[in-house]
Amino acid sequence: MRWSSLLIPTLREDPAEAEAVSHRLMIRGGLIRALAAGIYCYLPLGQRVLDKINAIIREEMNRIGGQEFTLPALHPAELWQQTGRWTEIGEEMFRLKDRGKRDMCLGMTHEEIITWLAAKEIRSYRNLPQIWYQIQVKFRDEARPKSGVLRTREFLMKDSYSLDADEDGLAQSYELHKEAYGRILRRCGLTFYVVESDPGMMGGAGSHEFMAPSPAGEDEVVLCGSCGYAANVDLAASRPAPPPFPSWPSLEEIATPGTRSIDEVSAFLQIDPRLTLKTLMVMTKAGPLLCLLRGDQQLHERKVERLVGPFRPAHRDEVKALAGVEAGFLGPLGLEIPLLADEALAEGVYVAGANREDTHVRGVVPGKHFKTRYADIHRVQSGDGCVKCGNPIMVERVIEVGNIFKLGTRYSTPLKALYLDEKGQEHPIVMGSYGIGPARIAAAAIEQHHDRDGAMWPVTIAPFQVHLLTVNVKDQAMRELGEKLYQALNGAGVEVLYDDRDERPGVKFKDADLVGIPYRVTVGSRAIQEGQVEIRNRRSKQDSLVPVAETVTRIQSLLRQPEGG
Ligand code: ATP
Ligand code: MG
Repeated sequence: MRWSSLLIPTLREDPAEAEAVSHRLMIRGGLIRALAAGIYCYLPLGQRVLDKINAIIREEMNRIGGQEFTLPALHPAELWQQTGRWTEIGEEMFRLKDRGKRDMCLGMTHEEIITWLAAKEIRSYRNLPQIWYQIQVKFRDEARPKSGVLRTREFLMKDSYSLDADEDGLAQSYELHKEAYGRILRRCGLTFYVVESDPGMMGGAGSHEFMAPSPAGEDEVVLCGSCGYAANVDLAASRPAPPPFPSWPSLEEIATPGTRSIDEVSAFLQIDPRLTLKTLMVMTKAGPLLCLLRGDQQLHERKVERLVGPFRPAHRDEVKALAGVEAGFLGPLGLEIPLLADEALAEGVYVAGANREDTHVRGVVPGKHFKTRYADIHRVQSGDGCVKCGNPIMVERVIEVGNIFKLGTRYSTPLKALYLDEKGQEHPIVMGSYGIGPARIAAAAIEQHHDRDGAMWPVTIAPFQVHLLTVNVKDQAMRELGEKLYQALNGAGVEVLYDDRDERPGVKFKDADLVGIPYRVTVGSRAIQEGQVEIRNRRSKQDSLVPVAETVTRIQSLLRQPEGG
């Protein structure tokens, strides 16, 4: 296609509101435009990237036996009420009423609809297994839509659902999806980890996330280089390495005037922060609770929430009223408030707040000086010991691009999606649910492949394969050669973006780098004088000179090469 007739509104300057690299480059490259917070238009180049990704997804879904559907985006509330999610899900769901005042919502996912359909159409074990998928828009009123198309309020998702007779069947369908997702992401040129994850609002029996490492990500994963343990920090466990414990003989109160934080206390007493015990008061539905952590560790809110339900930090005056002391001197001894200690504290001897102003107490042995419930409530940190093998683990920031869940009968039971087995007995269908985000894949690809000049698209999902650029279209010989190569490349089935604009060469080269198509073919004066075009690899920045007559065959052989070529 010709640049001169396409809408490719590139921008020289970074848009003010964009922080993530992919956000900036997709706006500047003319791929997307924001209509409102978290709502985007895809322009022709952006659309081409999505189409490429969707085509790969379709191929891989069809390969595992998936059948494509299109389910409605507008849902009656009843199905969501029957599974309980109408009330479980809060403000993330877009709700509306139709003219008859009936409750409706915009689909944020489609378990309810698929299960309704399965209940209608599946009768017998002979109809199973099934894999049903769609590539369909989803609506979620995200609390913080941000980073361009990485987190939007309206987005495309490929969601699929497996229907099986039993757990073994589910395990197979799950495995097929895990492999398909791996192939999709590899084909899209992403580096990724597959990690254990928290089933969250899907409420299932197991799940994995596909995570693309990038500083723009909102998730963190824990990785063990030694044994391969990989999990989302939201559920990852670790064994914080214990410090050498001193032999403090007994409980001893120490004056610690004005030292409230862990850093202040450990500096004042000249001890390793790992020898301090941090006490945090939180308010649960059942009342106050003291969470105890080793001084160098952070509280993991979701872990605590899973144990005690929703909670919030206690306010200053609540701490004062309940413990008679300000938060900086709070400790586990002598209060009538339930305790919840991190497992790391099961061993050792510590300095803790004394529940008296300007005072700490040294020699506190959990289990001996106070009784507590133990649980894993710390946030895993780089350098902690791996729960599986004990070697140091690493924490890395990632973008979640895909998520797979074993649902079991969570939806088929309430929606009565049942089948008859060989003996004529009724059972709920055993289900799985699998999501992957084409826009997130596109953005993650830019996050992983770019330089300061622009994107460096993997060839499989690039808006075009080749960027043909005529340096000066006013030069008749150059223009004619450009046209000839454009026809020849098109004729050979190569996807070419032909920059035939009457623009300064500097502008055209800058735009080529910004848009980031993998191979650039330049028709300049050398092509006219020496009969050679220049082929540049966007990623390696290597140029090669190729005789004009060999341009097409060279490009074809480059496109056959594995990524990076
Ligand atoms: P997150 O934790 O990032 O909100 P999620 O767990 O809610 O994601 P799923 O419900 O598992 O996401 O959706 C499946 C896939 O859909 C995600 O892996 C991601 O690729 C994509 N996706 C989810 N939410 C969004 C969004 N707001 N914008 C763009 N893509 C999204
Ligand atoms: Mg979400």
